Amino acid sequence: MKVEEFNSKKIYSDVSGVSSYIDKRIKIELNSYGLYEEIVDTDISGDISPLVRKVSPYLNSKLSVCDVARTLFSRYENIKNDVRIGYYQSLFVGYVKEGEYRVNASSGGMGTWIFKELFEKGLIDGVIHVKENPDKKSSTLFKYGISKTIEEIKSGAKTKYYPVELSEVLDLVKNCKGKYAIVGIPSFIESIRLLALNDTIIKDRIIFTVGLICGHQKSSKFADYMAWQVGIKPGDLKNIDFRHKLDNARADSYAIKMTGIIDGKTKTIIKSKNNLSGQNWGLGYFKPLASDFTDDVFNETADIVVGDAWLPEYQNDSNGNNIVIIRNPIINDIVTEAISEGRLIMNDVDSDTIFKSQAAHFRHTFDELSYRKYKKDNNNLWYPINRVNAENEISFLRGKVQDIRMEISSKSHEYFKMAVDKDDLSFFENKMKILNNKYKIIYYLMAIQGKGLAGIIKIIIGKLKK
Ligand SMILES: Cc1cc2nc3c(=O)[nH]c(=O)nc-3n(C[C@H](O)[C@H](O)[C@H](O)COP(=O)(O)OP(=O)(O)OC[C@H]3O[C@@H](n4cnc5c(N)ncnc54)[C@H](O)[C@@H]3O)c2cc1C
Repeated sequence: MKVEEFNSKKIYSDVSGVSSYIDKRIKIELNSYGLYEEIVDTDISGDISPLVRKVSPYLNSKLSVCDVARTLFSRYENIKNDVRIGYYQSLFVGYVKEGEYRVNASSGGMGTWIFKELFEKGLIDGVIHVKENPDKKSSTLFKYGISKTIEEIKSGAKTKYYPVELSEVLDLVKNCKGKYAIVGIPSFIESIRLLALNDTIIKDRIIFTVGLICGHQKSSKFADYMAWQVGIKPGDLKNIDFRHKLDNARADSYAIKMTGIIDGKTKTIIKSKNNLSGQNWGLGYFKPLASDFTDDVFNETADIVVGDAWLPEYQNDSNGNNIVIIRNPIINDIVTEAISEGRLIMNDVDSDTIFKSQAAHFRHTFDELSYRKYKKDNNNLWYPINRVNAENEISFLRGKVQDIRMEISSKSHEYFKMAVDKDDLSFFENKMKILNNKYKIIYYLMAIQGKGLAGIIKIIIGKLKK
């Protein structure tokens, strides 16, 4: 692939870092929008390594997520397949009972507990996960690292809505013999799977994959924006817990815990997400374009998938619960045994329940991707091939929701950068308010659509009462 072609398509790259691991001329840097960017000098000699096309989900048009999943899981006895969630051996909703895994986690604690189990059972020598950046002088707060003790494994708990990439840690794996388990969002796990098809060292060493569900990625400016709202200016944020659990609150009403410099002093502030702007994930503040051009909602190539149980029957539990999809029989045995021993509290559920927990995410990411592609076609723009075809089979108002979401994401990057340059948070908030109001109007029109006059009056009275 020519450098020019790579550069013209890279806006759709999830920047997992796998390309950079393969071709060292591809550098990865956080750009001024707080997004990782692959930098290739246009005057480098020679083409980009042909492997890059093979291991990048957005460039590989030969193997779909389904194809990769089939090679991994179809051979297992009793494996089932659901067209929405992919292959599975078993499906659960619940939490980790033993230890402090749940209390220290974002949801039910499975994301850390499964690593501990694989490690304690001697199946792996290390865990590749996302932790605080040990380099405290760096402005990058989180990065992938390798943990080789239970304490280190525990220190990687919690969701980081923050950009990360794998190039450095893959080099460590290459240079350090051993068996590893890795955690990642869907496109990262697919990249690792594609890499394993082409790199025997990675195939032999990374032997378990833990997939996260991922509504979308965020730039590092998402963290900066949360912090700025409580008085910590961009550049002064030292640490952030994006998922601080609040007693007696709904699971989805968690808080953000931020430590940074305010008026020359280090302060820690905990603020409910419901009192912070930019926390409505439907709006898609600080979302990279790549997140809108993937079709893998349920991390279909991962051995086990963990997500939040966003279900009415679990949402009132402030301690948090996981949805769990298991595809790998070894992991299935570990989990089943722990359930029978009472170390995990897990309910068997059907695929509809798992699907329902991510219904809104699925509609946006999978169903309405066809419309986003159709829009690109209209403008003669290239976009990644995946399982969803470009179509305009969408209601007028849902199309408008998609249009405004795309505008909000793209403008949020720009306006925030301008606000930082002006040292004026209100600049960002005023600009975003106009877009948010447009979004609200579209939702309002959807709510009253087909309701008749009596229905509309009822909705208005309901709103006024609120
Ligand atoms: C960007 C992002 C978006 C998400 N969107 C959704 C969603 O829409 N719906 C949903 O159900 N769940 C989503 N999740 C997953 C969810 O937030 C929890 O991480 C998941 O439920 C596991 O919780 P836990 O309590 O089991 O894990 P914990 O025990 O808290 O462990 C979390 C694990 O995830 C790893 N991790 C944290 N941040 C990252 C990261 N950025 N990249 C890779 N690994 C990471 C940690 O190192 C740790 O291994 C998202 C996660 C991320 C990172």
